[in-house]
Amino acid sequence: MLKKFFLTTFAALIAVAAVSIASAQEAPKSPTGVKHVIWIGSDGFGAHYVNWDELPNLKKMKENGAWTLHMRSVLPSSSAINWHTMMVGAPSEMHGYRNWNSKEPEIEPVYVNEHGYFPDVFRVLKDAIPDFHATTVFNWDGIGFCYDNKAVDDNVFVDDIEKVYQTAIKQLDTKPTYALIYFGEPDHTGHSIGWGTPEYQAMLTRIDDYVGKILKHLEENGMMEDTVVYFSSDHGGSGKGHGEGRLDHMEAPFIIYGKGIKVGEIKDVFVNFDCPSTVLSIFGVEQPQCWRGKPADVLEK
Ligand SMILES: [Zn+2]
Repeated sequence: MLKKFFLTTFAALIAVAAVSIASAQEAPKSPTGVKHVIWIGSDGFGAHYVNWDELPNLKKMKENGAWTLHMRSVLPSSSAINWHTMMVGAPSEMHGYRNWNSKEPEIEPVYVNEHGYFPDVFRVLKDAIPDFHATTVFNWDGIGFCYDNKAVDDNVFVDDIEKVYQTAIKQLDTKPTYALIYFGEPDHTGHSIGWGTPEYQAMLTRIDDYVGKILKHLEENGMMEDTVVYFSSDHGGSGKGHGEGRLDHMEAPFIIYGKGIKVGEIKDVFVNFDCPSTVLSIFGVEQPQCWRGKPADVLEK
C-alpha cells in the first residue's frame, strides 16, 4: 500500500514537472527584455509633410530610436485596408480587406484561424504570451473592425482625439503588454481643409504634442524602462484626398524608440505589413505561416 502511494506520488510529481517544462519552453522571451509595446497610430500623417522642427517629440523618438519616412502602404492608400495590413502582417490580396471602410474581408482570406479571422498581432500575442494584457482606444469606429476584439481586454471608442489621449493615459496605468492608441487626425483636417495646408501642419504638431505627453506619462508611471513605443500612419494624401498610387499618398513615417532599440535610419526596405512582424520579434514570438512581413532590423544585439 505504502509502495503504491509512493509510486503514485512520484508519477504525479513527474507529470507536474513535465507540464512546467512544457510551459517554460512555450513562453516566449523578449530578446531585449521588453515587457510592453505601445503603438501610437495617426491617420493620414503623410511622410511628405514631415518637418522635424515642428515635431519635437517625434524628433526625439527618431534621434534616440530607429525610423524611416519611406514605409509604404498597400493600395489603395486608404484607411481600413492599411490599418488592417499593419495588424495582420500580410498584403490585401491575402487578408482580403480592400477599401477605406472595410469592416470584413471583401475577398475570402487565404487563411482563417479557429476564431474565423486572418490572424492579427493582438491574437497572435495573446495566444503566445501568458498573462497578455492589451488595450486599444480610437476615435474612428472603423478601427474596431480591423482586428479580433476578443483578443483585447479593453476596446474603447471615443468621439474626439482629446478623449483618445485621456483614455490612453488611464489604459497605460493598467500596464498593458501591447496597446494601440489611435488618433483619427490629421486625416480629418486633410479631407476638410487639405493636406499640407497650415491647418494640416498644425494638426501634425498637435499629434506630436500628444506623443510627447504619452512618452512623459510612460516615464512617470515607471513603464519606459522596459517599454518600446512606435509611431506609424496608414497613408498620406494631397489636395483633399488620398487613395492613389503615388508616393505622397503611399509613404508614411515609422518611428520606433525604447528599450533595446537601435539608433539610426532604417535603410532596408520597410513596408507597412512589416510593422506587426517587428512587434513579434520584440516579444520573441514566432509569426504565423500566413504572414508575409519581415521584422525590421531594429533590435540591439
Ligand atoms: Zn486613413
